[in-house]
Amino acid sequence: MLTLRPSTFMPTPKDASLLPAPKVILRLAVPSPLRRLFDYLAPEGLDDEQIATLVPGMRVRVPFGSRALVAVLVSLEAHTDVPAARLRSALEVLDNQALLPQSLTNLYLWAAQYYQHPPGDVFHSMLPALLRQGRPAERPGKKVWQLSEAGQELTEQDLRRAPRQREIVEFLKEHEALDKSAVSEMGISASALIALQANGFIVMEERAASSPRAFDAQHSSAQALALNAEQTHAVEHIGKGLGSFQCHLLDGVTGSGKTEVYLQIIARVLEQSRQALVLVPEISLTPQTIARFRQRFACQIAVLHSGLTDSERLNAWLEARDGVAKIIIGTRSALFTPMAQPGVIIIDEEHDSSFKQQEGFRYSARDLAIVRARQEKVSIVLGSATPSLESLHNALSGRYSHLTLKERAGDAASPTLKLLDTTHEQLHEGFSAPLLEQMRSHLQRGNQVLVFINRRGFAPTLQCADCGWVAECTRCDARMTLHKKQPHLRCHHCDTRRPVDYACPNCKSKNLQALGLGTERSEAFLQSQFPDTRVLRVDRDTTRRKNELDALLNEVHQGKPCILIGTQMLAKGHHFPCVTLVAVLDADAGLFSADFRGQEHTAQLLMQVAGRSGRAGLAGEVLIQTRHATHETLRTLVNEDYGHFARALLVERNNAYMPPFSYLALFRAEAIDLRAPETFLGIVRDRAGGILAAQGNQDVALLGPLPAPMERRNGKYRAQLLLQCPQRRTLQNLLSALCPELESMKESRSVRWSLDVDPQDMI
Ligand code: ADP
Ligand code: ZN
Ligand code: ZN
Repeated sequence: MLTLRPSTFMPTPKDASLLPAPKVILRLAVPSPLRRLFDYLAPEGLDDEQIATLVPGMRVRVPFGSRALVAVLVSLEAHTDVPAARLRSALEVLDNQALLPQSLTNLYLWAAQYYQHPPGDVFHSMLPALLRQGRPAERPGKKVWQLSEAGQELTEQDLRRAPRQREIVEFLKEHEALDKSAVSEMGISASALIALQANGFIVMEERAASSPRAFDAQHSSAQALALNAEQTHAVEHIGKGLGSFQCHLLDGVTGSGKTEVYLQIIARVLEQSRQALVLVPEISLTPQTIARFRQRFACQIAVLHSGLTDSERLNAWLEARDGVAKIIIGTRSALFTPMAQPGVIIIDEEHDSSFKQQEGFRYSARDLAIVRARQEKVSIVLGSATPSLESLHNALSGRYSHLTLKERAGDAASPTLKLLDTTHEQLHEGFSAPLLEQMRSHLQRGNQVLVFINRRGFAPTLQCADCGWVAECTRCDARMTLHKKQPHLRCHHCDTRRPVDYACPNCKSKNLQALGLGTERSEAFLQSQFPDTRVLRVDRDTTRRKNELDALLNEVHQGKPCILIGTQMLAKGHHFPCVTLVAVLDADAGLFSADFRGQEHTAQLLMQVAGRSGRAGLAGEVLIQTRHATHETLRTLVNEDYGHFARALLVERNNAYMPPFSYLALFRAEAIDLRAPETFLGIVRDRAGGILAAQGNQDVALLGPLPAPMERRNGKYRAQLLLQCPQRRTLQNLLSALCPELESMKESRSVRWSLDVDPQDMI
């Protein structure tokens, strides 16, 4: 139903006056929860000439129920199945040219179809807020600073005493202007700007929307590095294929210089006057990342992050669409940014789970990026030190080219991994004696230690020492987490908070103890073990405020011995050259979880943490505490490398008939009523069975309904039904027939249900 038909609209032939005037039908993506497009008549009062200018990708305001909504024109049709009496006219056309290029309209429709998500909602959620409100698609002007004539005449000798002002002048000599976002991202001092302006060296001007300018290769400031052999091979290989659809897996250990490869590929793309789209995980979109791009390239860079105002976002989006911004960097949703001259798509850390949206429109930005690259006939580079099993499988089977970078770039040494068997060890707050000893010895040598706590299954909770009662959430099948600073109990699943119990509600005992490990507790323990050493905790609680993380990192980078303790936040994006020991307190919780991706994700995390350490001449050491030191795959990871580990895991997945050797779709349902979710999913299963029989399809397995692993969350009961199939297409055929039926079923109103195509987890 959503497949895009070519425009069948033809202007009325002048001599066809005897025929009834053919109606033009506008087929629109209207923001609604329904999985279909809607047909409307053109706005009343448009003459034939105006109608002839309508093209897909324009916004149209339409009446919908009693409201007026902003919809996107998907196609023009000559016929509709909607009875004439019910056909309404659109109110007005909002654009005089397509807002979106056809390729992007196609991508949005493809995604709606594949993920079985209402197309109107896909368009709506991917457009900048101001556009979905119906505002004009015009770039607001912006403030920029430029060198004045006096500023241009400054020489190396001037401003020697004012290095910060000097820096700005240098930047402006290479980049013709400095805008507000560059100022904040590059940490430019506001007082230096004011001083330069007061002295007449720079001028601020309110600039109207700029027009695209050709890239001037001589303007890039930071020099490209001389590539090593592996990097050269990668750049040459990818470079040769630019301009056609090719998919490359850049499989390179942390610090092997993947980013340098991206930068040199982008340089080639810019030379061809094309644009580059770079997607990074949520956590990596740091000022350091952006600064690296800004320093290398003098062209306009649009950075799409959550901190943008609506008008900044619109501006960045339009700059990309119009070809003004040559490089577009952003997280997941930046994938939906239109480009005038697409040249390459790069996905850094392609294995990262933040590329999958886990609610609402549940799409994988990585998978859709490949679809987009194919449609736009450009190459795509998936980079990772720990590729997802899906991408690795595609590379090994020859569908992607497999480019490897085995050595760290420059002369940094790679870390070594070791297992520390804790089966017969007594643990003190999670630390074994040998681990504490190792930490002491690294600190004594003047180095830094990083302690990594895998929070999964590890959060501290409150337990009664007398009767064994454990503080549980009243709304979830989960324990409350004990927070010591501003003491309270909090549920990390529904965010319920309550005061810490004073006595056991079960036996009235006052002997309540904290149970399990957490960063706060480990911090206190380590501080008592190492009273003369700074212990720095990095987690969501200590970095909530802006600059808190920067301050912590700055202290670490000064290089004095310290213990850095933290969670996932430490695993990505940052490099700690003075850290020589990484201690992983427990690998088991993740490795042996029920989730079928548990091993893959834990191994990726371990390798990412391991990659934080070491520098030239000083290799890092990684100690992993485990009670499963003889576990085969864990040993492969430690004794061989991630590549061997991942190949072993692929064999297991193949035997278990799990992705990438099958395709999954997960129906979830939840309700206050205990039985409603399973009842509803039972109906879904029966309907699916009926459709499969009618389609003569025997390839889809229907597993469930079963209670979700956490059956109750936030006061609701949850169940799921898993669909498994060896071919994507077959599964798609079933889902396309099934979802519209479910939508109109009255039982579907007794629960909240959703469908997750290619789910990341089963939770
Ligand atoms: P990755 O993205 O694979 O983690 P980076 O591109 O960030 O690796 O490179 C890691 C470090 O090595 C950076 O400091 C970078 O400047 C440096 N580097 C990368 N390539 C080279 C090279 N060819 N010669 C020297 N240093 C390099
Ligand atoms: Zn008790
Ligand atoms: Zn809860």
